[in-house]
Amino acid sequence: MVDAVEAVDWDSFPGPADYYRPAAAREGLRSIARARGRLEAASAASRLAGGGIIHDHSGTVLPSAVSATPFLLQIAQTSDSAVQEAALELIEDALNFRPSPGFFRTQDEVRLCCAIADHVHVHRPALGRLGHRSRALISTAQEHWRIDIQETCDDGADLLAFGTVAGTVAGTPQAAELHTDSGIALLSTMTVEYPPVGGHGQICVRITDLKLPEFHPKATLYKADCGE
Ligand SMILES: [Zn+2]
Repeated sequence: MVDAVEAVDWDSFPGPADYYRPAAAREGLRSIARARGRLEAASAASRLAGGGIIHDHSGTVLPSAVSATPFLLQIAQTSDSAVQEAALELIEDALNFRPSPGFFRTQDEVRLCCAIADHVHVHRPALGRLGHRSRALISTAQEHWRIDIQETCDDGADLLAFGTVAGTVAGTPQAAELHTDSGIALLSTMTVEYPPVGGHGQICVRITDLKLPEFHPKATLYKADCGE
């Protein structure tokens, strides 16, 4: 774990100069990976919260939080309860805090909150076994949904997109972001046509303002109105 933390170039992440401290990210993760008990957990967490992955005084989430989340999720599953609680709380703060202007997307142009939530979605089965605090984190992450589109068809009026969803998409019409190799398109209206049934995550959504020729078959939809 510590080697994996060292292998990340924390200096390479962008971030507001007055908040982001790459050394706090690196040293905070190294410390929390080794921490035992409440005191060590709190000390490591305070580094991470003081400009490592979030800046808690200003309520700011930093781009480094996205790469730190898989480490924290792993630590939460393998450490004592004090360390577990600290790790999960850091991720939840990162999800809830606001990004700084100009630093609200990853290099892949995904909003920080949605990218952090993606990691939580992947670990969801294991996290569900950890108890109350992890359930709160799972529930926060559910709001940041993504749909990986597998197939589309034009029903004569609109575009229907079939895919796999992680997170919970509200039933009401909403805006969405379509991410493809050629960039991001803002879709003004997306509606759930068939919600997922039985935990398989298959979903069908109706998109009203996109013509088929523009559509790229390898595409991901994200929630449009979060994290800015
Ligand atoms: Zn989000």
